[in-house]
Amino acid sequence: MRGQPPKIEPERYAELLELLGAGLSMPTAAERMGVARATLYNLAARVPAMGEAMQRARAAAKAARKARHEPSESCYVNDQCRLPGCTAAATEARARRRAPQPAPAVVLPAPARRITLYELLAADDAQPLADSA
Ligand SMILES: [Zn+2]
Repeated sequence: MRGQPPKIEPERYAELLELLGAGLSMPTAAERMGVARATLYNLAARVPAMGEAMQRARAAAKAARKARHEPSESCYVNDQCRLPGCTAAATEARARRRAPQPAPAVVLPAPARRITLYELLAADDAQPLADSA
C-alpha cells in the first residue's frame, strides 16, 4: 500500500458529509479529514451513492449560503447567483464601470485682465495727486 493515499473508511462518511454540508470546500474538507483532496474525488467516483450524497451536501451548503447572503456583484459573478438583489448589484456595478469617467478638471489660467483707461482715471480721482491737494 506504499504510495497509496489513505482511503476514507465508511465509518467516516458521515463526518465528511457533515463537513461538506457545513459549507467547507472539497480541499478544506480533505484537509480536515487528513486525506488528499484526490481521495475525496476518488471516493465520489468509487462509491456512487457517496458521490451523490457529497453533491447533495454541497448543494445544501450552497443553498444555505445563498439564503443568508448579502446581495453583491461578486455573488452574481462568482456564484452565478441570480437573485434580484445580486442581479441589481451587478447591473449597477457594470453601469458604474461603463459610465464615462469625468474629464479631469483643467485649470485654465485666468485671462489677464486689462485695466481700462476709465479705471485708471477713476483711481486717480480717488487718490488725488499730492500737488493738487
Ligand atoms: Zn447572490
